[in-house]
Amino acid sequence: MTPFALHATAGAARRGTLQLAHGPVETPAFMPVGTAATVKGLTPGDLRALGAQIILSNTYHLWLRPGRETLVALGGLHRFMAWDRNILTDSGGFQVFSLESRRKLDDDGVTFQSHLDGSTHRFTPENVVEFQEALGVDIAMMLDICVKLPASASEIEASVRRTTLWAQRGTAAWGRGATALFGIVQGGLDERLRERSARELVALDLPGYAIGGLSVGESREEMGRFTRFTAALLPAEKPRYLMGVGTVRDLVTGIDAGVDMFDCVYPTRSGRHGRAITRTGEYNIRGASYVRDERPVDPDCSCAVCATYTRAYLAHLFRSEEILGPRLLSYHNLAALAALMADARAAIAGGTWDAFRDGVLATAPAR
Ligand SMILES: [Zn+2]
Repeated sequence: MTPFALHATAGAARRGTLQLAHGPVETPAFMPVGTAATVKGLTPGDLRALGAQIILSNTYHLWLRPGRETLVALGGLHRFMAWDRNILTDSGGFQVFSLESRRKLDDDGVTFQSHLDGSTHRFTPENVVEFQEALGVDIAMMLDICVKLPASASEIEASVRRTTLWAQRGTAAWGRGATALFGIVQGGLDERLRERSARELVALDLPGYAIGGLSVGESREEMGRFTRFTAALLPAEKPRYLMGVGTVRDLVTGIDAGVDMFDCVYPTRSGRHGRAITRTGEYNIRGASYVRDERPVDPDCSCAVCATYTRAYLAHLFRSEEILGPRLLSYHNLAALAALMADARAAIAGGTWDAFRDGVLATAPAR
């Protein structure tokens, strides 16, 4: 049984509600990223004010610090970080495979060295699912094998074979309690392998599916094409999650391809570096032209930062390296994407999706 209700569709685009242990998630949804049990610079109160119903955290980072024993002793991840809405944890596969020289992969699992202190750790499909369940998260992700593109056909084939093997083992280890478990479709830019990966994972009848292995070096056109191709292989009655995607253009393209959930560090990372996101462009608040600019960050935004502060003030904060600058701009950037998703949901439900999509894409920044 999947607690996912579809309310409306427009072509492949979908408007739905996912019911999880810590409340509903209205989809399409963008999940703010809190890698180390914090969305950098923002409090849980900020996230609530932004309307976030689910955030993402990361198994790899939490495994290393503070570690399972501490998190369990302190009552799980929600209580630890004082966040009472939903949490999805990434499986850590992506981070471990990014370590390259510091990992050793075999059929049973992957051994790696911590980037913090060089200590040795081992992920298996079973212990990664058990870890996420012990933390009490609402959605756990299966340990998968993500290949950086471009890659050889045999390398991608091997990643699909192991991703399925590991998904079968992860599913067997899953307690089927309050934590929903999602599988991750791999297959690079190979339609045949994407089909095989999706078919083998869908056979496990999991509560939801992610499209992995994209946004890892391919062109924007390839990413869009394979997002649409892969989404169409997944069951209509289950949520679909496109991992690591979050620019205005990519979100709208992903929704149009039939994706329900997204995450990306882009809005918070941009915010920390002085980059303001709007639906029609990006700019660096440190620019000389903003020093006396009395307008809000985005005159079309209704967030608390835009209602309160001027560009001139934010420019001053960044030029003075004040801690409030990154915090305020991260807040606005998340609000910009939250508003985009809310408008997308309304457009799908209201029968105006095509016009909305075309309007956003006509003026969205190139990236
Ligand atoms: Zn704003």
